[in-house]
Amino acid sequence: MNSLKGKARALMVIAPVLALAQAALAQDGGTGSADRAEQLARELLIVDTHIDVPYRLHRTWQDVSKPTADGDFDHPRAQAGGLDAAFMSIYIPAAIDAEGGAAALADKLIDSVERIARNAPDKFALATCADDLMAIKATGRVALPLGMENGGPIGGDFANLRHFHERGIRYVTLAHSRSNHISDSSYDSFKRWQGLSPFGKRLVAEMNGLGTMIDVSHLSDQAFWQVIELSRAPVIASHSSLRHFTPGFERNMSDEMVAALGRNGGVIQISFGSVFLTPTAIAYSAGQRKAAMGFAFNRQLNEGDARVAEFMAQYRSANPYPYATLDDALNHFDRAVALAGIEAVGVGSDYDGVGDSLPVGLKDASTYPNLIQGLLGRGYSEQDIAKILGGNVMRAWRAVEALAESNGNPPQCSAAAAPAA
Ligand SMILES: [Zn+2]
Repeated sequence: MNSLKGKARALMVIAPVLALAQAALAQDGGTGSADRAEQLARELLIVDTHIDVPYRLHRTWQDVSKPTADGDFDHPRAQAGGLDAAFMSIYIPAAIDAEGGAAALADKLIDSVERIARNAPDKFALATCADDLMAIKATGRVALPLGMENGGPIGGDFANLRHFHERGIRYVTLAHSRSNHISDSSYDSFKRWQGLSPFGKRLVAEMNGLGTMIDVSHLSDQAFWQVIELSRAPVIASHSSLRHFTPGFERNMSDEMVAALGRNGGVIQISFGSVFLTPTAIAYSAGQRKAAMGFAFNRQLNEGDARVAEFMAQYRSANPYPYATLDDALNHFDRAVALAGIEAVGVGSDYDGVGDSLPVGLKDASTYPNLIQGLLGRGYSEQDIAKILGGNVMRAWRAVEALAESNGNPPQCSAAAAPAA
């Protein structure tokens, strides 16, 4: 074959490809192509480890298999966003834990997730092991694994941990807004245990043995460090961001904690609520709360009074909320990757859990493509993006399953993962 002719032919093939690539670069101006992002959202596994649908529906039942005007999650929006798996948060408010109704509420919220799946078996299915989740994705449905936010329902008894494990709970956030019988909370200035309680320390081993992931979001720093020391399996932070950007906000993780989580093989799932992302949003919330407390105090009202809620709404319309931006969120992803490595960062939006405080561009479950476009724009490769969107948390989950299996507790998968009839 004439080599010149061959070269000419090769050039003819390459030139249009180069032109296309150049056009794509020019079009996205270095911010990542929207079309590419949409395509990746459809192709890649997206797992969000914290979505508060059950508590939202506990307040007002809605059929989330159809479009809903309220909230941040429903099937059409999940599908538009390419979301494959949404960990349903079985959230127990600290006040209910203190009153003694935690376990009953947890069972009720799990019932409600089962109802979501039962009512729309062509759209949703419960996932109780990592293989389930992948099988459900393969059928084009949205997988609903379960995480329990607040270990209160365990009630100091491993039999309850096993009960909730049997019901499908695959991670437990040890405490929520107040220190409980397991652990101190970042939001609670009363550090009752100086970390974990004696029961909490034994619970870590028990969860490792059973195959329930330990979630360190919401914990005090001391409790976090004790979990890291005790856990034999990777732990997750199901919805936390970086304290570096929100100085003094203990609910977010310090640089040292993020790095340690990476060394543990764990994953920090970046949370989207604006107060997790910027000090401006934290200052706004503090100002609003202070004003509302003054209003309530002057009128001798208690916090739950409807007039206080009305005052809060008026405050908000008089003082526009400082929404964080997609760039703010991307800063957290970048720093977490720099601190802990590309294997240690994921997504835990907290959709349906943070009210109207979500960043511009990340408003609901349809917006994962915007996140992907932002990550592309910051130079992440498709492989890196795949890790962040779901690969990392699946690796951690499988490591937790493997340790439990070596302990005689193989993963309990759900029949619901089989294709819908
Ligand atoms: Zn939370």
